[in-house]
Amino acid sequence: MNAAGPGSPAGLREANRRRVLDAVLAAGEPTQSGIAAATGLAPATVSNIVRHLVGAGSLTATTTVRGGRRVRAVRLVAPAGYLAGVDFGHRHVRVGLARAADTFSRSASGRPGEPAPPADLLAERDARLPEGHGADDGLRAAEELLDGALAEAGVGRGALLGVGIGLPAPVDARSGSVGEPGILPGWVGVDAAARAAANLGVPVAVDNDAMLGTLAEQAWGALRGVRDAVYLKLSDGVGAGLVLDGRPYRGRSGTAGELGHVVVAEDAGGPTGGPGGTVCRCGNRGCLETWASTTTVVGLLEPLLGSPLSIAEVVARARGGHAPSRRVLADTGGHVGRALGGLCSLLTPARVVVGGELAQAGSLLIDPLHAALDRWALPGAAEGVEVVAAQLGARAHVLGAVALAGEHVLASRG
Ligand SMILES: [Zn+2]
Repeated sequence: MNAAGPGSPAGLREANRRRVLDAVLAAGEPTQSGIAAATGLAPATVSNIVRHLVGAGSLTATTTVRGGRRVRAVRLVAPAGYLAGVDFGHRHVRVGLARAADTFSRSASGRPGEPAPPADLLAERDARLPEGHGADDGLRAAEELLDGALAEAGVGRGALLGVGIGLPAPVDARSGSVGEPGILPGWVGVDAAARAAANLGVPVAVDNDAMLGTLAEQAWGALRGVRDAVYLKLSDGVGAGLVLDGRPYRGRSGTAGELGHVVVAEDAGGPTGGPGGTVCRCGNRGCLETWASTTTVVGLLEPLLGSPLSIAEVVARARGGHAPSRRVLADTGGHVGRALGGLCSLLTPARVVVGGELAQAGSLLIDPLHAALDRWALPGAAEGVEVVAAQLGARAHVLGAVALAGEHVLASRG
């Protein structure tokens, strides 16, 4: 990290450099004037930054002719080596390994309608973790899986350039750690990036898993080329990743997008009845997550279908015509759509991408979600919003962790 504060000249230079790199990553091979238009920076500033990054070996710039005019076209130089992604859930960890060049080439044609390049992982490993596991146990398990993935791909640890880690909790960008005490208790106060970097000897970045789903769908899936969008992670936890004006939006402290902890109804009985809204693990009452998570869906249906019950089984039952399963999935979509309606009125996204474990319900959940969104958002804001299923399924978060590792390596090498 740059020691200079965000408002200092050095901090501003760093922020501008990052904007230029992001613009190149998003556009593939933009011209210098295209970068100026995308970032709002002055052409002379862009020219200076590009010269610096070419000198550092991060970019190449060539003079070419486009539309009859001579222009300077800029490309990223993909580093030789490998990137790893680690996706932690409350009860699992998954590790993926990719070639850095494959990750950086992803955005060269990032426009709507163009086919996504394959999201190739050279090796993938996963393991179960006990609910409430501590950070040390989780990181040790991830390191073992990573060694296994490296061995499978025939890659030495020395060729690893960086690692991205996703956690199912808000990660404060200022401390690099989980700040909310109730959401992932075993990780609270742990600077996971610093600890993993010390163990692995490579740069490590950490982010919230909904943001990783967003990065992955932007790179390889349903968010390619969409400038204003919301990615929803509907699993045991409920979260959102926001894309505003083409860039992931993380907010002041890096924890933006906690849609699951928007209070839907504080006073009404929770989904299982009883007085007052259900108390959420964050300490509030009646959060969306208490109405619309995998735990709630399973909890409502286990008395009818027996225990243990999986979401895949609920979806299979619903598709087979089981009315209570259909009703619970529809209600879940309705609750999410109501909260999302407010978000759409505020941000007017063009597309909402539904990911996470509950996305496997498809139209059984997405249609009622869309109907509720139409009902609760301002008509002008809801009009034309596309609501679609995520494309990358269970791999979205580990792929996003690889993309995060790539961004981090890029930012720290220029
Ligand atoms: Zn909450």
